[in-house]
Amino acid sequence: MSALAKNYNRKKIAFKRGKGSFLYATNGKKYLDFVQGIAVNSLGHANPYLINAIKKQSKKLWHVSNAFMIPEGERLAKRLTKKTFADFVIFQNSGAEATEAAVKVARRYFYSIGKPNKNRILCIKNSFHGRTTSMIYASGSKKMTEGFGPRVNGFDHFKFGDHNGLKKSITSKTAAIMVEPIMGEGGIKKIPDWCLRDLRKICNKKKILLILDEVQCGIGRSGRFFAFDHAKVKPDIVPIAKGIGGGFPIGAVLMTKKAASGINHPGTHGSTFGGNPLAMSVGNAVLDQIFKKGFLRNVQTVSKYFHLELKKIQKKYPNIIKEIRGVGLLIGIQLFKDQTKFIQKLMDKKLLTIKAAENVIRVLPPLTVKKKEIDLAIKIINQVCRELKN
Ligand SMILES: *Cc1c(COP(=O)(O)O)cnc(C)c1O
Repeated sequence: MSALAKNYNRKKIAFKRGKGSFLYATNGKKYLDFVQGIAVNSLGHANPYLINAIKKQSKKLWHVSNAFMIPEGERLAKRLTKKTFADFVIFQNSGAEATEAAVKVARRYFYSIGKPNKNRILCIKNSFHGRTTSMIYASGSKKMTEGFGPRVNGFDHFKFGDHNGLKKSITSKTAAIMVEPIMGEGGIKKIPDWCLRDLRKICNKKKILLILDEVQCGIGRSGRFFAFDHAKVKPDIVPIAKGIGGGFPIGAVLMTKKAASGINHPGTHGSTFGGNPLAMSVGNAVLDQIFKKGFLRNVQTVSKYFHLELKKIQKKYPNIIKEIRGVGLLIGIQLFKDQTKFIQKLMDKKLLTIKAAENVIRVLPPLTVKKKEIDLAIKIINQVCRELKN
């Protein structure tokens, strides 16, 4: 009997190694991995460049403490701010820690300007910002919070797409609006660019902060460095994680100078592991690749092809596939029915995908995916549709 707690519904399969877009299972079979650790392995499995970076750093220094200067972290923070809206960065180890930090930054900002009661965060109902005791209440999902009371106060909600509801929910106590530009767990639902720009305007008008959770949709996944880059908006605070570590646990919160002004004092926030030399070296290596000329352009090109091919399948099987969702390589295939059987059939044919809300199959190739690997996936998805049609 397994000594691991049963809080996951694990598929009965394990892997012994990976290479690029592929995983090799202990049962000897080879799978095309379009899960990639849920949008984490941005450069695929066993990327030689990342292997080299971690090897080199592991021989020098793994961990010190944030009581000392960490040059690798200085460099990663500088590179992130140079390329983005941000002026300051705090490193963490995971997505939930990054969203937690984002909320702390927002609250501390209003505290520091003499408005300590302006501390509520407005989120989308049934969104996903992580699994800590606060973030399950930020997400506002009944399923995630069940049995974990007392309720953590400080979060309000509006329904996705409900503009009037959103405006009505903003009170004098609202400190920030926190949303995912593309909801990942929520079913690859994109906030339209004009809505995101409108959100920015509302935040300006109400003098509140805009937190855009890019933990899943960020770091090149959408074909731009950040998903909100498509809408050309400037947020105040952005939590990141998943893709930035390429498989090594790294989280971070990025902030403008203004938003950071409350937390920019010793002792306000901290993390033992966050920003250690080993993690920072891997993060820098990931950026070396993603910042390479043409890297994101290629994500745009291959993903455009993938979307077009998926839409062809949808046209062929309009009774099975309801919608092709997403941007770049953050892709959702929404079915009319529950997606469990479809995902199992894809897996039987050696294509790994993962579910999201609203009957969506999430398709998350590495950003380094090749056209012929997309062709293989398309062939398998076509086969499964053909089988399910009858
Ligand atoms: C995955 C995810 C998180 C939580 O990240 P963890 O590393 O699992 O804590 C937060 N926000 C979004 C949008 C995510 O997709």
